[in-house]
Amino acid sequence: MLINPSNPDERPVVLLIDDSEFVHRLLQARLKTESITLICERDGRAGLERAKATNPSLVLLDLDMPVMDGFEVLRELMDTPETHNIPVIILSSQDTIQDKVTAFDLGAIDFVSKPFELTELRARLRSSLRISSLFRILEQKAQIDGLTGLFNRAYFDDRWTQEYERCVRQGGGLSIAMVDIDHFKQINDTYGHPAGDVVIEEVAKLLQRTIRKVDVACRYGGEEFALILPETSPSDALVLCDRIRSDCESMTWSHHPERAITLSIGISGCIDGPLSDAVSWVAHADSNLYQAKQTGRNRIVCTETIPGPIKLPEAG
Ligand code: GH3
Ligand code: MG
Ligand code: MG
Repeated sequence: MLINPSNPDERPVVLLIDDSEFVHRLLQARLKTESITLICERDGRAGLERAKATNPSLVLLDLDMPVMDGFEVLRELMDTPETHNIPVIILSSQDTIQDKVTAFDLGAIDFVSKPFELTELRARLRSSLRISSLFRILEQKAQIDGLTGLFNRAYFDDRWTQEYERCVRQGGGLSIAMVDIDHFKQINDTYGHPAGDVVIEEVAKLLQRTIRKVDVACRYGGEEFALILPETSPSDALVLCDRIRSDCESMTWSHHPERAITLSIGISGCIDGPLSDAVSWVAHADSNLYQAKQTGRNRIVCTETIPGPIKLPEAG
């Protein structure tokens, strides 16, 4: 999950999973001075659900719990894609060497024996939170394109699969738009690579400020972008993309005021649930983009997804 750049001071959430009411009260009182938000669950199953729902920065996990013990919870946290990067500190009164070895082998980041020495627990908590914050920064960097700050291609692939699956489950609209800068190579060749970079950055900003919060703008490759538009029919996507197309055409550029920049866009969308598989759907939007290029550029070709896989035109 991305760190919220508009609220960098957000306090990290720490999830305590422990069946002891005493431990809950103790930690609520003694961790008050730490800049964290402590949330609590009393059994393993509820703890797992809470971890998935809240994506905490850290889990404090008791080993000895009825129904589902801490090792089982830890195993499941590590096996679940949404939670496997969350650092887990084991809190336990069972502190044999074998318990510690098992906990570390299963993926725990630290092990604190009960009864705790609270100063030590606080120091270990802070240390694990530093690691957690580094994980999140790395995770975020791996999803972000360096030039534009938009999501990158790797993120697009994951997110498109998720949105596609959501649309299969829930029906409704979903559209994808492939946006490509026209004759971009000429911009680089005529005005230089830095001027080309400015164009890519400004087009990215235009996309970002025009789409809604739920939409996702990605840099798909060089001078091509992909927009994922959830709950959006192709006709609504067309309205949005035409605003983008016309705003881009009317922008003025300090490196080349005499030369406008235009966009070609291919949209493929559904009105009520997907007709094709996720990969063919993207290929279809790409094929519409190709049609827009072939028929003169600075235009949009928008259609509903067609059933089944489609054949791509030869690259021109
Ligand atoms: P078309 O209208 O058919 O899309 O033509 P085009 O010239 O835009 O497309 P083409 O694929 O021939 O050229 C894209 C160029 O984009 C080639 C590549 O050098 C350039 N490019 C890719 N990434 C970057 C980048 O990050 N910065 C800059 N300045 N140029 C880039
Ligand atoms: Mg291009
Ligand atoms: Mg291109």
